[in-house]
Amino acid sequence: MTEPTSAPAATFPRFIHPFRAYSPAEFTFPLPEGHRFPQYKYEGVRERVLPLLPVLTAPRLRWAQAGRVHDSHYLRRWRRGEVTRKEEREFGLPWSEEMIVRTMRAAGGSLAALHDARTLGWGANLAGGTHHAFAAQAGGFCLINDAAILSRLALDEGWAQRVAVLDLDVHQGDGTAALLEHEPQAFTLSIHGERNYPFRKQRSSLDLGLPDGTTDAQYLEVLSGQALPALEAFRPDLLLFLAGADVLAGDRFGRFVLTLDGIHERNRRVLTWARDAGLPVVSMMAGGYNADHALTVAGHASVVEQGLEVFG
Ligand SMILES: [Zn+2]
Repeated sequence: MTEPTSAPAATFPRFIHPFRAYSPAEFTFPLPEGHRFPQYKYEGVRERVLPLLPVLTAPRLRWAQAGRVHDSHYLRRWRRGEVTRKEEREFGLPWSEEMIVRTMRAAGGSLAALHDARTLGWGANLAGGTHHAFAAQAGGFCLINDAAILSRLALDEGWAQRVAVLDLDVHQGDGTAALLEHEPQAFTLSIHGERNYPFRKQRSSLDLGLPDGTTDAQYLEVLSGQALPALEAFRPDLLLFLAGADVLAGDRFGRFVLTLDGIHERNRRVLTWARDAGLPVVSMMAGGYNADHALTVAGHASVVEQGLEVFG
């Protein structure tokens, strides 16, 4: 964003911080009328944060990068649309060329945000956090597991020695846990609804399953009393943060009753902790399906707003 000093005043950057976010919102895909996937929220979040920081078009993830954690046959079949009805049903979205393009952009936004995190301390993707994708199995609107791919790339390329994935979506990060289960340099931590989807849980490095009806106070106590100390003990040098908004009261697929203030406080605590530890952070959106669309958008925008407060 820095311009030569000779540039005319009118082109001076609008923002007095270096941060930006990535979004695949322009890459929409066809959905049947009334489908439960909240496609509206990506454009909603983009518009909401535009006054705060530049939002760039998310670049494409390359298939070879996805191949770091996913089965090549699986990737080839999804790329070509050679999938069964059962697979499509478990994924939860109908196959289309546009959906595939959008999927690779959403994951590419996370990778771009990782590069920002390495240079700026924090990078944000206004999508991603697709944690229900396994090596060869899609599920819960997740086809490509961006957090696992980023972890793998960061370790393999030497960008990090110890990666922590903090998954605060209300659903367990089952795909991420499985994909990183045998990687001692990665630590997966999930705070989720114990009785919510996925009903067959995987084993994260630390699972904190909470009851239905979990409130702000209960949630924040677990976050500060158990989750952050466990992360601290692992001594990561990169944090991948899935800042799910489906912990909010009124979410169609969540069973917690957090408030928007609770989400702000959660995000502030995580980001402040990371900043104070000198830990680069990548924030990803993950789930949010509130009946109140404005609340879904506000819940997702929170991590960007808090990120600018904490790192700006
Ligand atoms: Zn979720």
